Amino acid sequence: MAVIIRLDIDRPYGRRPLARHLLSRLSSDLYFPAIEGLGYLAEVRTMLTWLNAEGARAYVFFRRCTLPSPSILELLDAGRHEISLHLENSRSYGTFLEETRILERHTKRKVSAMSKHGSGEAKFGFHHYAPYEPEKYVQWAQQASLRVFLGNLEDPSLEPEGSSPSLLFFPSAFWLEPHWRDTQRFPVDWLLDHARHRDIVLLVHPENVLADPGLVTDFRNIIRALESRIVS
Ligand SMILES: [Zn+2]
Repeated sequence: MAVIIRLDIDRPYGRRPLARHLLSRLSSDLYFPAIEGLGYLAEVRTMLTWLNAEGARAYVFFRRCTLPSPSILELLDAGRHEISLHLENSRSYGTFLEETRILERHTKRKVSAMSKHGSGEAKFGFHHYAPYEPEKYVQWAQQASLRVFLGNLEDPSLEPEGSSPSLLFFPSAFWLEPHWRDTQRFPVDWLLDHARHRDIVLLVHPENVLADPGLVTDFRNIIRALESRIVS
């Protein structure tokens, strides 16, 4: 039993300072190239370095505006992380397949896991289709022979749903950032305790965690204390 580490890579240039925030918006809403000198995926790089030092493996979910650069790909390979799809355009099975192919062509690796960008409230980015429709994604994932779909609900006590032997579907996650977590019911100690008895998804957005020293401490303690798991 273990923690299933989920990194959703939402912002190519992070949130801070303002200039990088604006580059993230520009990349997501229109277009801006991936330039490492301007800090492209800088927060992801830091987090992968920590994971690799602990021997912890993660699912790393990329959008079409956060595709991994060559040096990020090296870190992903070194840590044997799972390159995964953070689905934006979920209008149809066809648009889902198109995004899967974009990521597979870019990385030259097979994608076997997906998560969804946004939980239904607002439109985040040019390609984003806002509704959150997990029952559709379960079907699509099975149809495309994916192995894992990690859902966006916020109650980490929900058990995984064994919709089929070939697809593992976790409806919810333990969101490390307190904005999406009932921190009274589910403090970090709850995760440390319960992930010893069953698999629990730990969801983080690197740019939010790195902006908060308390969350950095929590994240590093969790990956040190718990086994991480990749479903193979
Ligand atoms: Zn997202």
